[in-house]
Amino acid sequence: MNPPFQAVNVDCNFDYAYERERLSAAGITLVTQKSVSEEDIIAACTGADVVVVEGARTPITERVIQALPRCRLIVKYAVGVDNIDVAAATRAGIVVANAADYCTEEVSDHAVALLLASARRVVSMDRFVHAGNWAGYTRLHPLRRVSQLTLGLVGLGRIARATARKMAGFRMRMLAADPYLTGASNEPGVDLVSLETVLRESDLVSVHVPLTPETRGLINEAAFRSMKPTSVIVNTSRGPVIDQPALERALEEKWIAGAALDVVAEEPLPATSALRRFDQVILTPHAGADSIDSMSHVRRTVVTSIEAVARGHWPPFPVNPKATPRFPLRPWSEAASG
Ligand code: NAD
Repeated sequence: MNPPFQAVNVDCNFDYAYERERLSAAGITLVTQKSVSEEDIIAACTGADVVVVEGARTPITERVIQALPRCRLIVKYAVGVDNIDVAAATRAGIVVANAADYCTEEVSDHAVALLLASARRVVSMDRFVHAGNWAGYTRLHPLRRVSQLTLGLVGLGRIARATARKMAGFRMRMLAADPYLTGASNEPGVDLVSLETVLRESDLVSVHVPLTPETRGLINEAAFRSMKPTSVIVNTSRGPVIDQPALERALEEKWIAGAALDVVAEEPLPATSALRRFDQVILTPHAGADSIDSMSHVRRTVVTSIEAVARGHWPPFPVNPKATPRFPLRPWSEAASG
């Protein structure tokens, strides 16, 4: 007799009543673990049909993947899968899935909030007034009419397009760089140009690329030097996409005017980080995806993905759709999930 279909959550952080209820109704056992090292994960997952990942740093490396004899799906409670060796999973015939659309609204809202706060200097003015001041705020920075500014998007995927859609009301010129889009822009009102043009011509640059070997350090010293001295960079994607020492130098030497960062190279941001001392830097604690609504959405998507694979279907959001699964899967369909 086959052992029961088992999903192992290797880095659980909350209560899984919702997941357990739906999965047990589908005959799937959920095991929850707190595994931090490769060894812990390997030990926890020898009987796993599905490995469930929550954390951004949980190491789903090639070594771990090669030690998963039964695994057919690795699914993440997130969009970014940069801590999973997707190429190794593909070679092993394991499907990797994410929750691609669970927080598009939240992260784009967050990007818009950071863009507008940067353009209107909301945070430095707030600090100024809280410190007992009132008059004289213009010495902080000259302000520009937002409609006169150019918004530059690095990456034009789901979150960048939602950001553009929301910013369209401000009637800015909008540019985007995305080498994986061929032909015309996929978002009305956004011109597709090179990264060099985005950096050179934008007043507000908003970064929306996944972290890959190609995008690690994409916004480097040369990129900052090419930007306008009045420009601001906003990052709601992944910290290492920006070369942080180069950013600190750009801020120190005023190659650019400011930054607004939801993500940083090392998280949590060390107490001693130079970024904490710049008044022209807005910092939020990797909270862009957060809302009560996005959290229930991601939980639904993860359970749906596990159910689909248990029933012999592809999950709704495969990251490696060209993989040849070790156990053949039929195309995704709503009916594949309870
Ligand atoms: P997406 O896959 O829809 O879009 C990413 C886009 O980046 C794609 O269009 C792709 O072609 C493009 N791209 C890839 N490499 C590029 C490069 N070198 N230059 C320019 N463009 C490039 O993903 P999304 O839903 O828009 O999410 C983007 C990223 O945001 C995720 O990968 C994730 O790391 C991050 N994210 C952060 C949070 C947060 O809490 N702050 C939440 C969700 C997602």
